[in-house]
Amino acid sequence: MLGGYRDRVAWVDLTSGDVAYQGIDKEDARKYIGGRGLGVKYVFDNGPQVEPFSPDNILCLMTGPLTGTDVKMSGRIAAITKSPLTGTVLDSHQGGWSGARLKWAGLDGLVFKGQSEAPVYAYVENGEVTLHDASDLWGKGTHETVEVLFARHGQGAKEAEEEIAAHKRRGDLSVMCIGPAGENLSLFGCIMNEHDRASGRGGTGAVAGSKKLKAVVIRGHRRDRPRPANEEAFREADKAALAQIMDERVVTSPRKGGGSVYGTNVLMNMVNAIGAMPTRNSQGTYFGPHEAISGERIRETILVNDPTCHACPVACKKEVEITEGPYKGLHMESVEYESAWAFGANCDNSDAASIAKMIDQCNDLGFDTIEMGNVLSMYMEATQKGYVEDHGPGLAWGDHTAMVALIPKIAAREGVGDLLAEGTERAAKEFGHPEIAMTVKGMAIPAYDPRGIKGMGIGYATSNRGACHLRGYTPAAEVIANVLGPAELTDPLEWKGKGELAVIFQNVHTMTDCLNICKFSTFAESLDSFAAQFSAVTGLTYTADDLLKVGERVYNLERYYNNLAGLREGSDYLPERFLKEPATGPGSEGQVCELDQMLVEYYQVRGWINGVVSEEKLEELEII
Ligand code: SF4
Repeated sequence: MLGGYRDRVAWVDLTSGDVAYQGIDKEDARKYIGGRGLGVKYVFDNGPQVEPFSPDNILCLMTGPLTGTDVKMSGRIAAITKSPLTGTVLDSHQGGWSGARLKWAGLDGLVFKGQSEAPVYAYVENGEVTLHDASDLWGKGTHETVEVLFARHGQGAKEAEEEIAAHKRRGDLSVMCIGPAGENLSLFGCIMNEHDRASGRGGTGAVAGSKKLKAVVIRGHRRDRPRPANEEAFREADKAALAQIMDERVVTSPRKGGGSVYGTNVLMNMVNAIGAMPTRNSQGTYFGPHEAISGERIRETILVNDPTCHACPVACKKEVEITEGPYKGLHMESVEYESAWAFGANCDNSDAASIAKMIDQCNDLGFDTIEMGNVLSMYMEATQKGYVEDHGPGLAWGDHTAMVALIPKIAAREGVGDLLAEGTERAAKEFGHPEIAMTVKGMAIPAYDPRGIKGMGIGYATSNRGACHLRGYTPAAEVIANVLGPAELTDPLEWKGKGELAVIFQNVHTMTDCLNICKFSTFAESLDSFAAQFSAVTGLTYTADDLLKVGERVYNLERYYNNLAGLREGSDYLPERFLKEPATGPGSEGQVCELDQMLVEYYQVRGWINGVVSEEKLEELEII
């Protein structure tokens, strides 16, 4: 087999309890590499018509060939399935150590199918998977679940506590698990890893919950990491990659770049300054008290640690401790940008401690923070406009006490929580006002208003998993480049060229998701750097263009899946608010998003017909 792979994927049938082990098809590895690519191929082969909560749906937890090696930022793991929130193919990624440990434990991936009668967890060691009763864990939050499983499979309770305190940097165990949100089939229940890393978007945790899969425990030793096929070439490639990451002009530079010093929340002031901050459920584009919840202010006031992931010198995670007020005593990770926005500007809340509290609640209950922030802001707008009627007491803008009280009720599906657990779009429809759901394909938007950053408009609309910034992160060229990096800035208010820009970023990020390395790497490293590292580890010879072709192929395979699942012409859209209600804040005043024009350009570059991938394109990319 090629370097970097274990050539072993465990297919776990939760109905029968049987586990089968299969190698990785060489042709699949060539065309789809690993991580997101292989997972999407498995989900595609399983059939696009499958019901997300059916036992026939599969849930893949996949690594790539670089995962767990000494390649920088290579500790990630991808969850791929059919989404219950969007009905699309879904990939969602986590940092930490679980991906690395799965590889060290002798597997490239786990594929769960079927449905257990009683709750179970999977234990992975030495390339083998065993299933265990999880009845005693069902109903517990993710934090307690991790502690119980660490105590059960670790060296003992005391060591387990030390492991947790040290964020699993020592020792050999990782735990991935779901909380009550996934158990109760909230459509935005996620899978958590360690304590605070999430495959946040699209309902991976709900799919696990439908299968009664509570957790995956992985024991793997770093000494068992895969070695590069070409050690000498790897040393050279690794040195060059590290130099790019350390470059003081880029955001990744340890303890110097904005992404390292302040984490992703360095974006709060930057995005607000250009009038691209969705505020009050996108009724506005500028948040006055932005500084109070910015990465800079959090560093000054409540930050206590900068945790990191496997093989990452950037350490973008931000751990905080609250020492006063109603949330005193809270110690949590991580106040990152999307979540700070979701519970902050989006809900007209400038109380940083309450934001930390709500992120921690979501981590423990197993919720996607972005969707939760949108559910709450949509409920607030419904309250403001008198749409709530008999759906609970409503929620006032910025009332963080009520927000904190409501979140556990959504997990328990109690009262109005039962409706809100269905996600932003379904709940807004139930209120009779679908126009207040800021969603695409059923998934709510993240923290960039497409009236102020046009690339995000075309990006949200054409993302294969619903409104998402991470499918193609155009703000890297529209917002960050002029402030923190050496590259030239592209005007965020210009729509021309953004169709092509979105395609480029989507292909690049799909490719890094197949390699399974953190997207932060793309803020620093060149495409040639990825090609050199991939070639040295696997022993294949891939150029940057070869890797980009894989990204394009996987993006088209996802689109083909969605087309076959029923998402065809007209499924690339934005909420009308972004097209018809001009922005009012400084930086983007008077702007709307020119989606139609950008879609023409985008489809031309993609070679798609109104969002439907053509047979010629599928043949060109060797998909059919
Ligand atoms: S940049 Fe942040 S998320 Fe990415 S690997 Fe490093 S610590 Fe983890």
